[in-house]
Amino acid sequence: MADIIDGKAFAATVRKKVAEHVTRLKSEHNITPGLAVVLVGEDPASEVYVRNKGKQTHECGMNSYEHKLPADTSESILLALIDRLNNDPTVHGILCQLPVPDHINSEKVLNAISPAKDVDGFHISNVGLLATGQKSMVPCTPLGCLMMLRDRHGSLSGMNAVVVGRSNIVGKPMAALLLRDSCTVTIAHSRTKDIEALCRNADILVAAVGRPQMITGDWVKPGATVIDVGINRIPAPERGIGKMRLVGDVDFASASAVAGAITPVPGGVGPMTIACLLANTVTACCRANGLPEPEGLTA
Ligand code: NDP
Repeated sequence: MADIIDGKAFAATVRKKVAEHVTRLKSEHNITPGLAVVLVGEDPASEVYVRNKGKQTHECGMNSYEHKLPADTSESILLALIDRLNNDPTVHGILCQLPVPDHINSEKVLNAISPAKDVDGFHISNVGLLATGQKSMVPCTPLGCLMMLRDRHGSLSGMNAVVVGRSNIVGKPMAALLLRDSCTVTIAHSRTKDIEALCRNADILVAAVGRPQMITGDWVKPGATVIDVGINRIPAPERGIGKMRLVGDVDFASASAVAGAITPVPGGVGPMTIACLLANTVTACCRANGLPEPEGLTA
């Protein structure tokens, strides 16, 4: 039976490190890191994420600035707000919650955020820096996965890693990070042939697909480390009529019987994502002020 990688507990240790660093920044340098989160429209899931981000930012001793704009906000008004935040020295991190309404070009918005304040790591400059192995702001979800993998294995050098999914926010940056840590990396996607055999060769298997329980135990190499990024809602009639539950892209029951270690859903990668957003904000603040970066909180 696989070891369960407890993302909730790991995220708590990351938040503790962030809070300790924030305390030092305040007492030694009179600087309080600030994170601005911009939400356009009234998507209920996004509102929950934004609320959680604000709460955890405060709990770590940082300033949180929430900017809620109506759904009919024009692109130019949103860009003007981002410009203002780019030039605000009390703001060290800026995040625009996705998705934005259809009339707004999300790429344009993400690329308007100053790369130094781009705590989501989605700006094209940060994407390029990561791809070329240089210091950058790293997307939060893959950063969280990398932290858990390094904690489990120490060095990842020489390991075979398979990342299932090639999205810009998870799959591609995850693959770039694993490559930078000297894994032999394969990216699989919807057109990949014989994907099961490919996965069975993986010492590290990262699933970022968005298909409930697609990866079953017979895809997993015995002893492999399985990181399940997927968050899927499926009907749970055993809990009552109309009830739902969260599952990953990995079939936990069968995969955990074969893997050496596995992240559960919920309680695995999910909690690490916000913790890494806080870590990125502290990192951005240190870089902006020419101070040493916190150890163990960057890629
Ligand atoms: P996307 O939909 O952007 O990308 C999904 C990827 O999976 C695509 O590259 C797609 O391939 C690939 N794919 C789809 N079907 C198959 C298949 N049958 N076989 C192999 N590959 C397939 O999703 P995201 O990367 O944004 O998210 C992936 C999952 O992670 C989702 O469940 C999402 O909710 C979750 N997530 C969780 C986060 C967290 O904090 N834990 C954060 C972000 C996402 P192709 O490119 O060929 O279409």
